[in-house]
Amino acid sequence: MPKIVSYRREGPALIVEIDNPPLNVSSQAVRAGLVEAFEAAARSDAMAIILRGAGRAFMAGADIAEFDLDALPRPDPNAVHALIEQSHIPVVALLHGAVLGGGLELALACHGRVADPAARLGLPEVKLGVIPGSGGTQRLPRLIGPAPALDMMLSGRAVDATEALALGLVDRLADADATHAAFMLACDLARAGAPWPQAARMAMADDTGEVAAARRANLPDPARGGMAAHAIVDCVEAGARQSFEAALDFERDAFERCKASAASRALRHLFFAEREAARIPGLPPHVQARAIESVGIIGAGTMGSGIAMCFADAGIPVTMVDAAAAGLDRGLDLVARHYAAAAAKGRIAPAEAEARRDRIVGTLDDRDIADCDLVIEAAFEDMDVKRAICARLGEICKPEAIVATNTSSLDVNLLAEASGRAGSFVGMHFFSPANIMKLLEIVRGDDTDPNVLATVLALAKRIGKVPVVSGVCFGFIGNRMLEGYLRETEALLLEGASPAQIDKAVEAAGMAMGPCRMIDLAGVDVAAKVVLEQEKSGILPPDPDYRMVVRRLFDLGRLGQKSGSGYYHYDGRVPVEDPAVAEISRQLAADHNITQRTDIADAEIVERCLLPLVNEGARILDEGIAYRPGDVDLVWVNGYGFPSYLGGPMHMAEAMGHDRIVDRLSHYAAARGNRFGYWTPSGWFNLQAIDADPALN
Ligand code: NAD
Repeated sequence: MPKIVSYRREGPALIVEIDNPPLNVSSQAVRAGLVEAFEAAARSDAMAIILRGAGRAFMAGADIAEFDLDALPRPDPNAVHALIEQSHIPVVALLHGAVLGGGLELALACHGRVADPAARLGLPEVKLGVIPGSGGTQRLPRLIGPAPALDMMLSGRAVDATEALALGLVDRLADADATHAAFMLACDLARAGAPWPQAARMAMADDTGEVAAARRANLPDPARGGMAAHAIVDCVEAGARQSFEAALDFERDAFERCKASAASRALRHLFFAEREAARIPGLPPHVQARAIESVGIIGAGTMGSGIAMCFADAGIPVTMVDAAAAGLDRGLDLVARHYAAAAAKGRIAPAEAEARRDRIVGTLDDRDIADCDLVIEAAFEDMDVKRAICARLGEICKPEAIVATNTSSLDVNLLAEASGRAGSFVGMHFFSPANIMKLLEIVRGDDTDPNVLATVLALAKRIGKVPVVSGVCFGFIGNRMLEGYLRETEALLLEGASPAQIDKAVEAAGMAMGPCRMIDLAGVDVAAKVVLEQEKSGILPPDPDYRMVVRRLFDLGRLGQKSGSGYYHYDGRVPVEDPAVAEISRQLAADHNITQRTDIADAEIVERCLLPLVNEGARILDEGIAYRPGDVDLVWVNGYGFPSYLGGPMHMAEAMGHDRIVDRLSHYAAARGNRFGYWTPSGWFNLQAIDADPALN
C-alpha cells in the first residue's frame, strides 16, 4: 500500500507528496506523515522542499468526521504548520484541484505557493458553522489584507488561480511542467536567502480593526446561524491586537466553541445528509447509468424554461416544445432575457451567455424531441393533460430514452403506466425558479428501473442540484409536508391571526419566508388548485373547513403578487396588510361557527405551523416514502427555505427531543380537537425511542 505521505529526492529538491484518496483530506495519519517527512527533510541536504498532493487535489479540507471526537488526535495541524515554517530550506506548496479549508491553511504555512491554473482555493468552514481553526484566520489576512481575507472567509467562496494570483494568495501560476515551476520559485527564494517569507511573521494591516468593525455590522445574528461569522471577525481583530501565537490560541478556542454549537451540528448533519442522499437502498452496487447528452422539454412555461436553463448551464443541449406558439415565444423570451441580464450584470461572459442561450432551441413539433436521451414534461398540472402527453412521449421517444414528469403532486405511477414504459419513467420535481433552486425531488415509481434512478441521480449532480429520492404519494416529501403547515396557517387566519402576524412569527423562528407571503409569491391559484386536485382525487379529509381562505381568495381573483393582491395588497413587490383579508377571514369564521380571538401568541403560531410539518415528515418516514430523516431535511432546507442552521425539520425535532414533540402534538390534539387525526403523533417517534433505548435492544 502506498504511504499516505511519501518523500523522495528529485534532483536538488525533496518532494513531499500527500496521497490520501480521493481528495487528500487531512486526517491524523496525514498529519503524522507530514511530521515524519519534514523531520526527515530537516536532516536532508536538499535545497528546497516541494509539497504537493497526489491525484485530484492538493487537499480538499479536514476530515469532518474528526469534528465529533472530543479532542483532535495529535499531531494537531498547528504543530505541522510550525514545523514547515521553521524549515531550514524553503518549502513551496504546489497547488492543484481543490485547495480548501485545512488544505489552504497548510499551503499558507509554506514559504511560497505555485498554483495550477485550474486550482480552486478557499476557506469554506463558515458553511459548516465553524471557522478556519488552524491559522487560517491569522495567515490569510496577513498575506492578502483583511478586507479580501474576510470576504473569502465570511462567504466561504473559493477563488480560482487567476484571482488567487491577483490577491497575492499564490506567487505564481504553474505552466505545463508544474514541478519545475515550483522548483524555480524555491530557487528564487533560496537565492534571496533566509528568513523565508512566513505569513505568520507578516504584520496585520493598520486598518484591520476598522475593516473588521465594518464587516461585523452586516453579519447575521449569532443566534440565527451567524456565530461562526462573528467568530471569524473576532479572530482577525484579535490578530491585530495580539501576538500571532496568542491569536492562534484565541482562534482555537473560537473554533471549539463554534464546533460545539447547535448550528454547526445542524450544518454538519446536512453535509453528511447530502452525501448519504445519493445512496439508495436496494440499488444494485454497480448499476450502469445511461448517457444523457440531450434533453427534451414539453411545456415552455415558468418551469419548462427554468429547467431548460439548468441543462444549458451545464452544457447539455435542450429542445423545448410547447403546444402554443405564444407559450413557446414567452419561454424563449424568458430564457433570452435571463442570459442577457446575467451578461449585463457581469455574472457570465457575454460569449458564454450567448452559447448557453443557443443551446436551447424551441419547436412546436413534438417529433423534434424523438431522439433526445431524456424528455421532461412540464405542462399544466392536470392529470388528463399529463396522461395524454406521457402516452404520446412513450410512442415518439426513442426506446432507450427516459421519460420524466415535473408534476408537483400527481400520481407518478399512473403517468408511468400511461407512458407505456414504466421502467424508463421517473418523476423529476424541480422547484421554482428551477435554474436557481438547489432541490430536485426524484420520484421513484413502483417500476422505475434502478439504472434510470442512477442516471437521474448522476444527472442531478451534473446540473448542480441536491437530489433526494421520494416514493409516490400525494405531494411527495416536500409538498405533502407543506400541506399540514398551510392547513394550520389557514386555521390561524380563521381564528383571527393576520397574515402579517403569522409570517412575522414564523420568520422570527427562522423560515426564510412566512407561509402567506410564500403563497402570494407562488400564486394563490397554484395553491388553491392543489387543494381542488386533492378534493377531486378523494385525498382530502372529510373536512368542510379545509383551507377555506385560499379557496375564497382564489374565487375572488386575488391570485397573489401577480394580480396585485392575495393574502396582502401589493405596492410593486412590497406586501402591505390588507383589511379586506381580515374581513374575509372574519366572515368565513362566522359562517362556520369559528370563534375569533385576539390573544394568539407568536409561540402558538410557530408550534401550530411547524409541528404538523414535523409530524408529516415522521409519517413519510414511517411509510418509507423517504429513506432517511436527513433526506426530509434536505428537501426542506433546499426547497422551502427552512433555516439550515436548524438542520431541517427532522433534525430540529431530534434536537428538541421526540418526547417533547409527541407531548406538544398531544396537547394540540386535546386543545383543538382531533377529528381528522391531524394531531395524532406518528408512530415513527415511538420507533425512534425504541431504537434509541439500549434496554430495549
Ligand atoms: P405554466 O402554465 O407556466 O406552463 C405550462 C406550459 O405548458 C404552457 O406554456 C403551455 O402552453 C404548455 N402546455 C400545456 N399543454 C401542453 C402540451 N400538451 N404540449 C406542449 N405544451 C403544453 O406552468 P408551470 O408553472 O411552468 O408548471 C408546469 C408544471 O410544473 C406543472 O406540472 C406544475 O405543477 C409543475 N411545477 C410548478 C412549479 C411552480 O412553482 N410553478 C414548481 C414545481 C413544479
